[in-house]
Amino acid sequence: MNTQDPKPRRILSGMQATGELHVGHYLGVLTNFSRLQHEAECFFMVANLHSLTAFYPNYPDAHRFIAPMVSDWLAAGIAPEKATIFVQSDVPEHSELAQLLAMFTPVSWLERNPTYKDKQANTEKDLDSFGFLGYPVLQAADIVLYDATHVPIGEDQLPHLELTREIARRFNHYYRAGKADVLTVPQAILSSFPKVAGLDGRKMSKSYNNSLNLAESAESLSKKFMVMKTDTARVKRTDPGNPENCTVFTYYDFFAADLKEEVNQGCRSAALGCVDCKKQLLTRFLPAMAPFNAKRRELAEKSGLVNDILHAGAERARKVAAATMARVKDSMGLVSRYSL
Ligand code: SF4
Repeated sequence: MNTQDPKPRRILSGMQATGELHVGHYLGVLTNFSRLQHEAECFFMVANLHSLTAFYPNYPDAHRFIAPMVSDWLAAGIAPEKATIFVQSDVPEHSELAQLLAMFTPVSWLERNPTYKDKQANTEKDLDSFGFLGYPVLQAADIVLYDATHVPIGEDQLPHLELTREIARRFNHYYRAGKADVLTVPQAILSSFPKVAGLDGRKMSKSYNNSLNLAESAESLSKKFMVMKTDTARVKRTDPGNPENCTVFTYYDFFAADLKEEVNQGCRSAALGCVDCKKQLLTRFLPAMAPFNAKRRELAEKSGLVNDILHAGAERARKVAAATMARVKDSMGLVSRYSL
């Protein structure tokens, strides 16, 4: 599978809104979205139908996070003039196309999805549903609906995209538009989504309660940095440390790469204490996040803006989706009953 060529023409990506965004989302996803919108035509989707797989008994708990999440996208520089920003369920063609693709997707393809058993084993939520088993089909529909040529993913998500590609190829095998393929088979843009560590050194996640949330004040974030896990073998101030075993040091990569060597030496020789090391990092972290926070505050004053953007985005998305559905139905022979 060619994962890099040709040049991206249209990109689809999405995020579920199931909680407050944190610094891990900012560094891992939003900075990527913000860059990609200048490189190709982008569709950025709030994947709320996917949230239903886990939140179906209490969906409003997740729905309330949509507007704040989109506001954070905007604060991070994602621009509605550049990218189409919309909510998945506002474009009914996602569900319609997923239903059609499901007709020929073998169950065995879905059962071998590595995430299927993994997620079921690692959550208290009931994921033993047809909807959860079939979410890769919905994911395929999300992508091919927009003729996305590329999807930005991490290496671990390649099997998911391969499933989308298999579904698109199978469709193109059964149904054709003359000699042409009906669906675009998407390629990956392999993105280096950095794994951002939480306060305890595990991956930052709200379920681990170890997050630095984007909505938090500078004071609250500073307090959290001061309790962030360091090299546990460094018990006393005079003990030399090992930055490779320290969560704080990983943040130097993002916010103070130019100081890494100095910190490395200071830590290993015990010339630098952990409190000073954290304070120094904060002098970089807080100013780096300041423009985002200022924009966030500015957006909070503009009530209705996010709704307007999502409304316009859904209209734009539906135009593209409707054209794809017309092509899909035509190739399948699903003619309108009025033309029988
Ligand atoms: S000095 Fe810095 S890098 Fe070394 S253990 Fe302490 S916080 Fe980590």
